[in-house]
Amino acid sequence: MNCDVSIARCESYDPKSVKDALLAALEPIGGLDWVTPGMKIAVKVNMMMRVKPDKAATVHPQVATALSELLIERGAGVVVGDSPGGPFSATYLSAVYSGTGMRQVLEAGAALNDDFSIFDVSYPEAVAAKEFQITNYLIEADAVIDLCKMKTHGLMAFTGACKNLFGAVPGMRKSEYHYRYNTHKAFANMLVDVCEWCKPRLSIADAVMTMEGNGPSGGSPRFMGAILASCNPHALDLAGAHLMNLKPRDVPTLEAAVSRGLVPADVAALRIFGDLDSFVIPDFQLTPKHEVTLWGSKDATIAKVLSGMFASRPKIARERCSGCAECKTVCPAAAITMRERRAMINTKKCIRCFCCQEFCPQGIITVQRPIVARLLNRR
Ligand code: SF4
Ligand code: SF4
Repeated sequence: MNCDVSIARCESYDPKSVKDALLAALEPIGGLDWVTPGMKIAVKVNMMMRVKPDKAATVHPQVATALSELLIERGAGVVVGDSPGGPFSATYLSAVYSGTGMRQVLEAGAALNDDFSIFDVSYPEAVAAKEFQITNYLIEADAVIDLCKMKTHGLMAFTGACKNLFGAVPGMRKSEYHYRYNTHKAFANMLVDVCEWCKPRLSIADAVMTMEGNGPSGGSPRFMGAILASCNPHALDLAGAHLMNLKPRDVPTLEAAVSRGLVPADVAALRIFGDLDSFVIPDFQLTPKHEVTLWGSKDATIAKVLSGMFASRPKIARERCSGCAECKTVCPAAAITMRERRAMINTKKCIRCFCCQEFCPQGIITVQRPIVARLLNRR
């Protein structure tokens, strides 16, 4: 198990600061010596929706540009891509490339993915997802670099390198997977399966500006000033979660990775290059916790019963709804209807996947925890 994680200070997104920080983060974990001329490298960025970089919901284009420059200097061909929540099509992605500022990578000589073909993958070793669909540009590449944004996440508490690779699954197919893997544990295991199948050669986190609160799209940008790198996506996530005061038991993908022996259970077992603790934000705002944990044991029978009764639910601030119906489009359970041009959730149909919270462009859907559940637990 590779436990090396590197962290470097990056005070802003100005081109020199970003490139220097990337080089500083990469050097202790072996740099880019593995990149050879003619290699095809797919950089899987987080471009979850069409939002400007200053919202801190997507990877800042300057980080993708600086990384592309470093790879191209070594003679590699670079394709930057993602499959956000909407359709995996040229028209939709064109708007996302423009909206997120990601067209900037073209100036470095990289290409933006324009291959919208998909493939069925069989993965017998998987714990949850033994078959799934994958976007072709990742299959075609000689190596995948997982370039993620570090943020809070309504469903998984934290999103970093592992969750970023859910964007390897094409467009609306992701909603179907929310429905199919509809417990935290199953969903997290599916995410770890996809991540392990993609086997990123390198994982890098843009944590210069992170997102706190109602992440992954409706929260507030928070300065952390860091770029992290690791050859192990789960080790990167363990270090990143630590910066937000989260333990593996708080993050289902980490819990799943720990149980498979892909990462240690304690950040102290990682080999860290850089002063990780100096980047911790003590008052970092998290999303509400989903599960009820009593007396420190979430496996207790009583906790299981209560977790059904007191589970977190999505709540729409209807007075601020623009009527765009994005939430209705992404809802895998068809639990959302539009009434008088405002969205409404049918709580009986809702499977609490929080796709609506993730993709509401107004950020007005929040994770609501019943008051009793809040009293029982810290978050
Ligand atoms: S209403 Fe929201 S949380 Fe509920 S199933 Fe639909 S998308 Fe998921
Ligand atoms: S996505 Fe948000 S703004 Fe759009 S209809 Fe749904 S709740 Fe309203």
